Amino acid sequence: MSAEKSPDPKGDAAPGAPSAEERISYREYLRRLPKAELHCHFVATIQPSTLVELARAHGVALPTYDTDALFDYDNIVDFLAVFKAAGEVFVDKGVVERVAYESVGHAARTGNLRYREYFVNPDTFRFGYRELLDGMVAGLQAAEADFGVGFGIIPAIARHLTPEVGVELVEKVLDDGRPEVLGIGQDYLAPDDSESPHLFAAAYRLAERHGLRRTAHVGEIPGSSAAEVVVAIDELHCQRVDHGYHILSDPAVVERAVQLKIPFTCTPSSTRVLSGWEFGPSHPIASMVRQGLNVTIATDDPTFFSADIGREFAEVLPAFGFGPDVARRLALAAIDAAWCPPAARVALRAGFEEEVAHLDALLDPASVREDLQASAAG
Ligand SMILES: [Zn+2]
Repeated sequence: MSAEKSPDPKGDAAPGAPSAEERISYREYLRRLPKAELHCHFVATIQPSTLVELARAHGVALPTYDTDALFDYDNIVDFLAVFKAAGEVFVDKGVVERVAYESVGHAARTGNLRYREYFVNPDTFRFGYRELLDGMVAGLQAAEADFGVGFGIIPAIARHLTPEVGVELVEKVLDDGRPEVLGIGQDYLAPDDSESPHLFAAAYRLAERHGLRRTAHVGEIPGSSAAEVVVAIDELHCQRVDHGYHILSDPAVVERAVQLKIPFTCTPSSTRVLSGWEFGPSHPIASMVRQGLNVTIATDDPTFFSADIGREFAEVLPAFGFGPDVARRLALAAIDAAWCPPAARVALRAGFEEEVAHLDALLDPASVREDLQASAAG
């Protein structure tokens, strides 16, 4: 399904080496690599200035109205206060549409985002599923026309609600049946703050019976293990796993997931905020890549973790000790694991390969060596 690389796609690149001015650093290469992300929660894509503006307009209390300080939490109480407030500013479909549109432009500019799949949990909005999805689709279609960024939507089962609400969500998705919705996933945690993937087996069975794809948030939180990943694969029949870091607790499960080539959507910045894992060669995501797991990189809750997809590559991969070969592989892995229709996936991959070849020709190898030496020195 891969397209042939064109040696000179635009017909205007110099055939020889780039001049000194044209050369780009490894960080710049990583920022400019074309990217897809498969793990991004819609509410958390709201731009900081938009959140503050809407909170003021609608009388929603925030811990601070200074966008530089708003996401600088040192405790989970402040984080949850901001998260809850963000949910409250979505007063109507127009806000949904605006937020959807704005975040795409930002991610395309800062990190060359080309495709994104969004989790959204309709149970936490004050209006219905159809209105929410209408707003998202309108905003994301407008953004696709203006910025060339494709999208898909994955309604997420809210784990803090009951398993029955999860089944009802799948029923709503099936009744609505719009093509932009690609499958089901999850957000929040079970009421006892566990992952408890087995609680939602009925919802996943219903989704599977009707041909919806499935992914689950497992192996993320302290206290979880490879066992939750096994439940996601064997009981929920997930085709992807979100996070999955604690799979490393069981080498046999790692080996099986390597054989299955099951994609993992890993989100570096969220692990630093929520698990305190600093970026370095022994970070669990780096270990997952080194052990041959099919890792993709994403932002999770970009605004709330001050993450953007450009930085997830440019800051994190050098710190993990990964050069351009791994970076390329991770960028392409996200396309291969996307749930968009096959023709769209093939076209995206061909575009990625062409653009990567162009960037490869500009990359300054000395800059790669410097970054990797710095990471090895720790
Ligand atoms: Zn998530």
